[in-house]
Amino acid sequence: MYKDTKVRLIEKESSLEFLPRLTAYLNGPKIFIKRDDEGGRSGGGNKLRKYERIIDDAIANNCDTLIIAGHYQSNAARALVGSACRFGLKPVVVCKELIPSQNDSFLKNGNALLMNIMGAKIVSIDAEDDYTESMNMVAKQIEDEGGKPYIIPFGGSNVLGAMGYIECVEEIDKQSKELDMGFPDYVFTATGSGGTQAGLISGILMNNIPSRVIGISVLHKKREAEKIVTGLTAKTLEHLKFSGEINESVLVDDSFVGDGYGITTAGSIDTIRLLAKLEGIFLCPVYTAKAMTGLIDYIKSGKIKDTETVVFIHTGGSPLIYAYNDKLYN
Ligand SMILES: *Cc1c(COP(=O)(O)O)cnc(C)c1O
Repeated sequence: MYKDTKVRLIEKESSLEFLPRLTAYLNGPKIFIKRDDEGGRSGGGNKLRKYERIIDDAIANNCDTLIIAGHYQSNAARALVGSACRFGLKPVVVCKELIPSQNDSFLKNGNALLMNIMGAKIVSIDAEDDYTESMNMVAKQIEDEGGKPYIIPFGGSNVLGAMGYIECVEEIDKQSKELDMGFPDYVFTATGSGGTQAGLISGILMNNIPSRVIGISVLHKKREAEKIVTGLTAKTLEHLKFSGEINESVLVDDSFVGDGYGITTAGSIDTIRLLAKLEGIFLCPVYTAKAMTGLIDYIKSGKIKDTETVVFIHTGGSPLIYAYNDKLYN
């Protein structure tokens, strides 16, 4: 199934890199990082893999406008705007504030700035408005004006989106062999709308890889997140007519969310500094820093053995560093 779409948003495979200094610092298992933050245009990140099949579907349905919902600092919205631009489609973002009392950099820097530069149409709604209803209203208006809108699923997390992460597993598998090692024993990812984790699990099951995927929640409580990921994994495997057994249970850990989505934690700020200082890698305060904080905790507490190997999926989000400068600047 590899690269079976017409729409390509990522031209090259993202690199799989060893993190020698973080590994030495933790004195534990070998840690690798999959640089999905660097692949493709539009600011990169995991959403590009998810959007390849979704935008393929939009174009196949002759749509000319892509509608997405998100907050002003949404990576999903920023990546969608850039991807729409590349294919001559009009992007519309239905926006809410993420956290009330946001400062100027939150509203005009980071992803908000990038979306503005790319000329996205922003439709602002109130905190109590429903995203789905608002998107339907925008779609209706576009239809009335003779356009053909396509509504992007929340976070790009449907079956088409998840399939992008089956490709990621196939890349890691190939790259691990090139590095003369087996597929890493653990795959760590940030889990929000669940498509990334569902795709990773699907890829691992379909390719019969003996590896465990651990999602670190940035949004939902454990039970809710596991339900979402399990449901989407089942749908994805069914869509691909996978008949093997799903013997693995889905694991999402919600211990690192802190006070909630988009709210920084002391641990995640420390982790951003640690990775920058040790490896020159930038994590984002909303997703990857919380996920990496989880991985570091798993290693420090001995949940992962020194003889095992780990791959951390860098799902992107670096524009968020600029939006959260007030929390990060020391
Ligand atoms: C959206 C996003 C995630 C979460 O991925 P899901 O597929 O929604 O679970 C993780 N990291 C970054 C940087 C993201 O933008």
